[in-house]
Amino acid sequence: MATGYLWHELYGWHDTGSSLGFVYGNAPAGLQPFHHIDSPNSKKRVHELLAVSGLLDDLVRVVPEPATDDDLLLVHDRAHIERIATESRLPKGGDAGDGFSPFGQGGNEIARLAAGGTISATMAVLEGRVDNAYALVRPCGHHALPDMGMGFCVFANVAVAARVARARHGVGRIAVVDWDVHHGNGTQAIFYDDPSTLAISIHQANWFPHDSGHLHERGAGAGEGATLNVPIPPGSGNGAYLAVIDQVVLPALERFNPELIMVACGFDANVLDPLGRSMITSTGYRAMTSMLLDAATTLCGGRIVFSHEGGYSEIYVPFCGLAVIETLAGVKSTVDDPFVGLLDEMGGQPLQPHQAAIVAQAAQLVNEIP
Ligand code: ZN
Repeated sequence: MATGYLWHELYGWHDTGSSLGFVYGNAPAGLQPFHHIDSPNSKKRVHELLAVSGLLDDLVRVVPEPATDDDLLLVHDRAHIERIATESRLPKGGDAGDGFSPFGQGGNEIARLAAGGTISATMAVLEGRVDNAYALVRPCGHHALPDMGMGFCVFANVAVAARVARARHGVGRIAVVDWDVHHGNGTQAIFYDDPSTLAISIHQANWFPHDSGHLHERGAGAGEGATLNVPIPPGSGNGAYLAVIDQVVLPALERFNPELIMVACGFDANVLDPLGRSMITSTGYRAMTSMLLDAATTLCGGRIVFSHEGGYSEIYVPFCGLAVIETLAGVKSTVDDPFVGLLDEMGGQPLQPHQAAIVAQAAQLVNEIP
């Protein structure tokens, strides 16, 4: 099994500047400037752990190419693309669109390399150069809308790569599984009326964006039923997430029968994340990856592409990333997660009745997938 892997040093140089977590500082208003919560470290440290663990030697390096205008225009309107380019030339850069998503001078080129990296990883899989792939890209993509970025996302990395897969390789049915702790609202909006793209988002109920990602958001027109949200309660741990994969995601994939599976792989549902109140450990991520990999093997010749999204624990994201990529590659590295014994036994990890109720409701929607 060959697993493709992609990282570029420029992803670590995407400059979110000084902020107070995720709002801009304002000294006279008492908002003491600090650092932005989307710091490079949670991603850079994944790459460094891959290197130190030796796993990097077992992966096939894929070189990211920047997304072109034509690639981006498959999802985004020209005004958004041009505004990002214009602000990127300013001495202090700009904002992706919502006032929470700063980027520094030259941020346009890095955001294009992130969207392009997800495309490059997808092409490597579709062209048979690797069996599956992990694109460790930054900035993230799943909140970006056709006309604006948001939630630290500039361009919709996964959605752009899915459309490029269609344009260049004629891929028909594509399933996107988003397990970032926040709702994949951008992906949902882009494919809302598209019956050939199954957009599944598992996220903490009513977190970000506010009032988004409800069970009743099911797609529209010909795409009705091809959007599937699983808004799970805060405090959901490995038990709840594995139940969602087992009872909702796998049956949905089986029914939809995709030709390619793309995973919007946020790690902010990990138990130590500052922006999420979910409780997944590396054990959970390892099991979830294994289940999706098995589904890809059964349904679509193993074609599965992971694209990195959020995840803000600079300490724990690297161990979750290592678990996912080890599983994709079928290799156990020399490094063990030093936290997992404690975290796996934390109260609340097993599936709770109120979580099971939501999983059961979501499972009923599988029958409506076109
Ligand atoms: Zn997130």
